[in-house]
Amino acid sequence: MKAIAGLSRVFVMVAVVLPMIFVGDQSSASAAELGELVEYQLTFPVDGEHHFRDWFWSRRSGGIHHAQDIMADKMLPVLAVADGTIRQVNWTGGSSPDPARCCTLVLKHDDGWESRYIHLNNDTPGTDDGAGWGIAEGIAPGVHVAAGTVIGWVGDSGNAEGTASHLHFELLDPTGVYVNPFHALAQAGGNWLGSGAGDPLFDGSRLLRVGDRGADVQRLQVVLNELGISPGAADGIFGPFTAAAVRGFQIDVGITADGLVGPATRAALDARYDPGTQQPDRILRLGDRGPDVTRLQELLGDAGHDPGPADGIFGTRTNAAVHSFQASARLTVDGLVGPITRSALGF
Ligand SMILES: [Zn+2]
Repeated sequence: MKAIAGLSRVFVMVAVVLPMIFVGDQSSASAAELGELVEYQLTFPVDGEHHFRDWFWSRRSGGIHHAQDIMADKMLPVLAVADGTIRQVNWTGGSSPDPARCCTLVLKHDDGWESRYIHLNNDTPGTDDGAGWGIAEGIAPGVHVAAGTVIGWVGDSGNAEGTASHLHFELLDPTGVYVNPFHALAQAGGNWLGSGAGDPLFDGSRLLRVGDRGADVQRLQVVLNELGISPGAADGIFGPFTAAAVRGFQIDVGITADGLVGPATRAALDARYDPGTQQPDRILRLGDRGPDVTRLQELLGDAGHDPGPADGIFGTRTNAAVHSFQASARLTVDGLVGPITRSALGF
């Protein structure tokens, strides 16, 4: 139900004209924000048939999900997404991981990023007996592996015993911030369903308040701004200006003016937010998202300039494809999709 709601939201989602911070290419990039859709090159972690949607912001016990669940059959190989060193097996860095805590892995990438693999197999193949093992031979704390190495197998261990088997996959930037790996997984060839990444605010579930930071806070700031209530810079940091803007909005719509963004305020924001206010022929650029970006990506692909998956997010690959298209069409190469580039694309 959540996924369907997210899907319809994505279809009506409009431009977010804010500078998304794309890390990955820039080694000097500052820390990511919670839930940032990063451009990070990785090897897809499941070798075989699978699917996933953007479940990063879903509410789960203990807060938001801050991961992607890659649905796949038990015993499909799980691969290291990058070159790196195994740091933990079953949540311990020691040499004898507790078999009762089977089965999880933490991989510290050579570039300082980190990936975590949860719900690996714990059953004898063909059963649900909890008596098996889901970590590949020789995979132990301190062992260095290359990207693509089989490190384990898909399962349903931990609190996934009652659900379909899947790999719960987390990605952390070098400062330990949980980023949203949706885009990175899609660009690694993952089979994502739906029309792209969810909306961190409207599909999200976190109670937002002063001191919070993240992609959901940034989206909140953009939405408030578009509603004519300036929260200050859309910097992803919930400070006093953002709190004042939230209270202003709450007074406006007649709900408790507590400056907290919970379900009632989200619903009121959603109801008030009008995607129709966006110009239909806006100039598209890096960081934009929406159905028109999806269309742009399809047209670029048709024209032979691969923008990556048509996921409605104008990321660095889409940007590169626009540059390449503009060069081949002898247009000004600026990465901006305005009237001239639109018409050259038949957009
Ligand atoms: Zn999960």
